[in-house]
Amino acid sequence: ARQFTRPLNDLANQFNTFLSAVAGAERVFEIIEEEPEAKDEANAKAASMVRGEIEFRNVSFAYENDIQTVSDVSFHLKPGQTAALVGPTGAGKSTIINLLSRFYDPAEGEILLDGLNTRDLTRASLRQQMAFVQQDTFLFQLSIRENIRYGRLDATDEEVERAAELANAHSFIRKLPDGYDTVLDQDGSGISQGQKQLITIARAILADPAILILDEATSSIDTVTELRIQDALYRLMEGRTNIVIAHRLNTVRQADVIIVLVEGQIIESGSHEELMEHKGFYYELVQSQFERVSS
Ligand code: ADP
Repeated sequence: ARQFTRPLNDLANQFNTFLSAVAGAERVFEIIEEEPEAKDEANAKAASMVRGEIEFRNVSFAYENDIQTVSDVSFHLKPGQTAALVGPTGAGKSTIINLLSRFYDPAEGEILLDGLNTRDLTRASLRQQMAFVQQDTFLFQLSIRENIRYGRLDATDEEVERAAELANAHSFIRKLPDGYDTVLDQDGSGISQGQKQLITIARAILADPAILILDEATSSIDTVTELRIQDALYRLMEGRTNIVIAHRLNTVRQADVIIVLVEGQIIESGSHEELMEHKGFYYELVQSQFERVSS
């Protein structure tokens, strides 16, 4: 395992722990390659041990000067709360995540973490407070053990296995001929898409950040694995501030606040009950789209 430690450390130094828990890092890597990482402000401080309070204050942003991608977005999450971002493709959900993790900065307004303007924090320390789990899981061509350990490089084998247990991954890993030493090759070493997700969830559990960003899967996986994933995700989300790009009615229903985005603007927000009563966009969405998806 020794030989694997080095590239992992190198990667970690380069891309920091945010990516350690990133399931779909490819997209992030692309962004990094496109735009060399901006320098931190001269007096930037390191965020550490945050409680996970997140506030967007009148945030506006455009990738290109002429089209405003996010317009005057404001919301406030207390530590431990879950927000579901809901809205059509292109509404700006991923952009909100890109802004929170400072791959881009707002053109107007500000984003606060525990009351501190995120512009005054170093990007690396900010991202260390977050784990990112998404549909297209990102795994290295290394052993399962090292893939999970990437969540926290100094974790012991016992801690790695404990995280795998919490992620409902331990039992399938143990059954593999090489167990935790199974090296994942490009076509997945006979591991299913759902099992890859469980490995990613174990990685995030090991990273144990205050903030979890979850890009929920749209494609269906076999039911048994699906239940395992849901169960592991609920365990991962517990006690954290969660922002979920949500596609499932069940997840959305349980969110503390549902933020409905259309063309970069929040058109409604509130609990499921509040929005159902309001009989606006969300109500219509539940009637049409979600009903079909969930039935
Ligand atoms: P959602 O996640 O809700 O599908 P996005 O935040 O990905 O929406 O996209 C919002 C808008 O910004 C879309 O019109 C999309 O094409 C555009 N966009 C997203 N990423 C980029 C980028 N890196 N450069 C330019 N435009 C982008």
